Amino acid sequence: WSEETIAVVTGANRGIGFEIARQLAGHGVTVILTSRDTGVGIEAAKVLQEGGFNVDVHQLDISDSESISNFCEWLKEKYGGTDILVNNAGVNYNVGSDNSVQLARQVIDVNYYGTKNMIKAMIPLMRPSAAGARIVNVSSRLGKVNGRRNRISDATLREELSNLDTLSEEVIDRTMSTFLQQVEDDTWQSGGWPQSFTDYSLSKLAVNAYTRLVAKELSDRPEGEKIFINCYCPGWVKTAMTGWAGNISVEDAADTGVFLALLHEAVTGKFFAERREVNF
Ligand code: NDP
Repeated sequence: WSEETIAVVTGANRGIGFEIARQLAGHGVTVILTSRDTGVGIEAAKVLQEGGFNVDVHQLDISDSESISNFCEWLKEKYGGTDILVNNAGVNYNVGSDNSVQLARQVIDVNYYGTKNMIKAMIPLMRPSAAGARIVNVSSRLGKVNGRRNRISDATLREELSNLDTLSEEVIDRTMSTFLQQVEDDTWQSGGWPQSFTDYSLSKLAVNAYTRLVAKELSDRPEGEKIFINCYCPGWVKTAMTGWAGNISVEDAADTGVFLALLHEAVTGKFFAERREVNF
């Protein structure tokens, strides 16, 4: 990896995203630090630039399609694309053990649809290389479709979402819209959804499922144009999202993301935690 290698990180102005940007820059990669607030992004980038790292900065709100297309246009013009994309931006309005499903639409719009729209917009901008381009999605074990706890109770839907032969964008989107409709109708509590952090868990379940789907769709790209896409759980991390109550430092939380972004193996469509593959 060299400063010729470009890595885009979303939601990189603070938390895990900022640390992923810092560690990637520490490996000599040129990092595009993106932030939904321009001023905050510039300030965050300045910290890394003053540390001697190659860091550029651009506004990006992943829930705003115009912002995504403005960013992509700028990236293409200035760098011709990127080698690495880390989809880190995300929101969670659950506090303690409460579900904040009244904010469910926002959570699913940012965490799932925002991430999906970024991936779709960025695939044409992933630069061809012998090593292959890399997409890393920061997700969560809370979104494990077949986890022992906190899973969807409908076994048929679980099967549809986990079997790559039946998994489709339509199945994922339908699952999200069924849940959101039930939130609107106030019937979600009997819908058999994950009980902890319901909206957030479902948004990450969707990210995990979409990661596998995109990996499958990209799998027949020719040598030299490969794109590898994986997701990972950083653990319960001391950031604003957990009210700094997590037990993992941002340094450790970023580690697996950076590991996956810089991996030289043809690993794709997998879910990781602590640098190891785990089940979806
Ligand atoms: P933070 O709340 O500290 O940071 C979230 C980042 O995402 C901020 O930079 C925020 O920007 C940005 N963001 C939010 N919405 C958007 C948007 N629409 N467009 C662009 N950027 C946006 O959280 P963490 O660092 O803890 O979380 C980072 C990722 O890790 C998230 O995807 C989260 O779900 C995931 N994760 C976190 C865990 C944890 O324990 N903390 C556990 C498992 C997964 P702004 O500053 O403008 O709000």
